Amino acid sequence: MPPAPSEPAPPPSPSPSAALPRQFSLTDPASPWLIVNKHRPLVPAAYAPADLVRPAVAMTVSGESALLNSTTAGAAEAMFAAAARDGVSMVLASGYRSYSTQVATYNGYVAARGQADADTASARPGYSEHQTGWAFDIADGGGVCGFQPCFADQPAAVWAKANGHRFGFVVRYPWMFHPITGYYYEPWHLRYIGVEPATDMVNRGIFTLEEYFGVGPAPGYL
Ligand SMILES: [Zn+2]
Repeated sequence: MPPAPSEPAPPPSPSPSAALPRQFSLTDPASPWLIVNKHRPLVPAAYAPADLVRPAVAMTVSGESALLNSTTAGAAEAMFAAAARDGVSMVLASGYRSYSTQVATYNGYVAARGQADADTASARPGYSEHQTGWAFDIADGGGVCGFQPCFADQPAAVWAKANGHRFGFVVRYPWMFHPITGYYYEPWHLRYIGVEPATDMVNRGIFTLEEYFGVGPAPGYL
């Protein structure tokens, strides 16, 4: 789908995935290459990872939000430690979110803002990467600009954007790609896919999982 007329067009990207030989499922929620977006709900909708663990990183959350799947937790520990060695303070601001929590979160947005606006801010239940344990949100150690557009300029976001691929992470909702991802820029939301594909995306100049893995854009719910 072309971007809205008022938007600068995203840069052209190389043709989708001649990338890597397909090694992992794009539909299994337990796969690191899962693509969940507004066209691709989780199956089953109430999926819960079997291997949730609490990573040994600085965090501002407790309870289920402090959990990630075990692969993502290990990668997060390595990334946070590397950031710290570079003098960057990064904290985990939101991790796993169960289906039932997503129901409550989404319904709260709908009650406060109406469904159309809620759909720009919160995934519908069964459509959130947070439900898979493969994604989490970061904040700066000082908490500056948490979950706000200005977070993009904070050290933790700048560092993660430049270095996340070395640990298998991508900034899942990059700037100006919402016609493809369905979400406006979220410099705080990182998604694990593995070091090899994340690095390959950087080398190829491909910014979205939809383009890299050759599935269609998902600007809104069907
Ligand atoms: Zn997020």
